[in-house]
Amino acid sequence: MTARILNGVAIRDQIYAELQSEIASLAAGGVRSGLAAVLVGDNPASKLYVNSKIAACGKLGLESFLLTPPATITTEELLGAVDELNRRDDVDGILVQMPLPKQVDSKRILDAVDPAKDVDGFHPENVGRLVAGRPSLVACTPAGVMEILRRSGIAIEGANAVVMGRSDIVGKPMAILLVHANATVTICHSKTRELKEVARRADIVVAAMGRAAMVTPDYIRPGATVIDVGQNVITDAAEAERIFAKFPEKIAGFHKKGSVLVGDCHPDVVETAGAFTPVPGGVGPLTIAMLMSNTVRAARMRRGRAAEAAGVER
Ligand code: NDP
Repeated sequence: MTARILNGVAIRDQIYAELQSEIASLAAGGVRSGLAAVLVGDNPASKLYVNSKIAACGKLGLESFLLTPPATITTEELLGAVDELNRRDDVDGILVQMPLPKQVDSKRILDAVDPAKDVDGFHPENVGRLVAGRPSLVACTPAGVMEILRRSGIAIEGANAVVMGRSDIVGKPMAILLVHANATVTICHSKTRELKEVARRADIVVAAMGRAAMVTPDYIRPGATVIDVGQNVITDAAEAERIFAKFPEKIAGFHKKGSVLVGDCHPDVVETAGAFTPVPGGVGPLTIAMLMSNTVRAARMRRGRAAEAAGVER
């Protein structure tokens, strides 16, 4: 059996098309939504992520603002910058790219972002609202996984779902979203016993551990849906050749670039799964799409409230 590939790029494009018309209708009402990104220092990976987020704004017609404070910034100075963004009316969404330099208290910074502008969905208020099942800004990666499942017609209600990983940004919100969608959810982590046996009971597996190719075909019940959130860069030739033994084009790519991206699932999982998100091109594109979607949602919610407060009919 070969799995149906769940194409994240196609789903992202579908979401972008929907967002574009929503952004146009907001613009027709005089609202230009804007996202502010705070990129501290010059971590190359962070730069790459932030640049692709800014580029996505440009593509969709969202306003974007980039702040680039130096790596020497203090917690107090960064709190000041966040506070200013909180007050700006032209900023609907604020994202502070992680990781921050060691001297900065990341928790204090994330907690300082106005929950109404917290498009990453990391603020405790938004996490609480998610748990309570109230409309909120939801962490982008798990929200993107839900879009993949729903738009691909994967049955969630009543399904056994196993989430591997319990981080605040992926595993935990993922599990909550699946519970709200009526799945029966098991959350696994590094202390879970017999992970393979647990995983084999799942109709839906979400792997988010940051462990290259750990989930081999024997973890997967034949026909199960496998969502691979992991993004691991392999730079060791022997490891790349071992993992991609059946994928010569990947090995050729490795020898050209000196690295190759692999998920938490072994590529051979494609032989056992019923449906499978590739890496790259699966979950990754949805993360930025959901950031854009959250920005538009934040604009609607915040400006809707302002209009309500002013007694304006919408
Ligand atoms: P974290 O390191 O914060 O969390 C990893 C989780 O996996 C932890 O809960 C940890 O358990 C668990 N874990 C680690 N090893 C094992 C193991 N051997 N068996 C079972 N559980 C294990 O990672 P993130 O959640 O931030 O990210 C996970 C992966 O997703 C990474 O590869 C990351 O690059 C990727 N990612 C991809 C995104 C995308 O857009 N596609 C966005 C965000 C992340 P414990 O809690 O016990 O330590």
